[in-house]
This record gives sequence, structure tokens and C-alpha cells, in this order.
Amino acid sequence: MLSRNFLIELLETGQLRVDENGHLILFNEFGILTPSGVVVKLRELLERQFGEKVADKILMKLGEYQVEAAAKRYIKILGIHRLDKNKIIQFTEKILNVLGWGKILVQPFHDSIVTVIMKESALGIRYRKMYKKNSKRPIDFWVAGMLKKHFSVIFETEVKVKETKCMAMGHPYCEFLIKKVKP
Ligand SMILES: [Zn+2]
Repeated sequence: MLSRNFLIELLETGQLRVDENGHLILFNEFGILTPSGVVVKLRELLERQFGEKVADKILMKLGEYQVEAAAKRYIKILGIHRLDKNKIIQFTEKILNVLGWGKILVQPFHDSIVTVIMKESALGIRYRKMYKKNSKRPIDFWVAGMLKKHFSVIFETEVKVKETKCMAMGHPYCEFLIKKVKP
């Protein structure tokens, strides 16, 4: 499996390691392993406190922040040239798969609309187990935020991301549509 090989690759190259103080280090940053149920709970707490819109926005901003901070480190460490778009896309697929959100597949695209499929969404599956019901709306805003920032780098312009299918809603997989925002 691609994602498993990539994890081994990260261990072998020292991109993922444990330091002398017991920290998990991923790409020169402290990593923290968080169970999916905690993230689903965080989503629930944000929603109860601030309402759906604000909760979704905060989670999306977190995803954007994560990619923005990571991109700087990846580009430096791996020497990925900013303009080598295919390599960036391949790398993002790999890293997202390793992080455990689900199995991410970027569909081939020619123009400014990209479809990204996420199979086996960790949060989607966890959500249905925790609440024993389907969500009325998509829940993977953190992933949507990561994709948003990622494709804004690829397209060198702002993009919009919409999760059009979500496993939390009972769909067989999650689906994200990414579109360029017209200047
Ligand atoms: Zn989803």
C-alpha cells in the first residue's frame, strides 16, 4: 500500500522519529497523536458553543493553518520546487494518507475544478459510531481547509472548497470540489 510505504520512507529518512525527550517529531515539528473521537468531540463542542457556521469555519481555518505551516517546512526539507505541481499533489496525497484522515485521491483535472475523493474518512466513520446517526451536513472541514490551502498554492490564487459528499452523512465516501475564486 502506498501510504504504508510512505510511512516507512518517513521513518527511514528520519522525517518521522522520536527524540530524546520522547517527543514524536514529524518534519521538524512536535507531533501529537490525537484519537479521531477527540476531534469529533471538539467539533461538537465548537458547534454547541458558537453554532454551525463558526464551528465549521474554525475547523477549516485550522486545516489551512496546518498546510501553510507545513508547506514551508516540506518545501525546505524535501526540496520540492514550488512550481513542480505534480510533485506537490503526489506529496499531499501521501502525507494526508499518513496523517490518517482517510484515503485521499486527487482526481485528474485539466482546468480550474478539482475533485478530491476521501475514502474511509476517519471522522466520518467515528461520527456515525459516536452519535449512532447520520450527520445532516458534511463534517470534514479540517480536511477541506487543508485542501483549500494546498490548491491555492497549486493554482497560485484563492480557491473555494465544498465537501459535497460525506461519510458522516451516510455517503459511501467523502467528496470535495475545489474551484478557483474569480479575481
Ligand atoms: Zn466527510
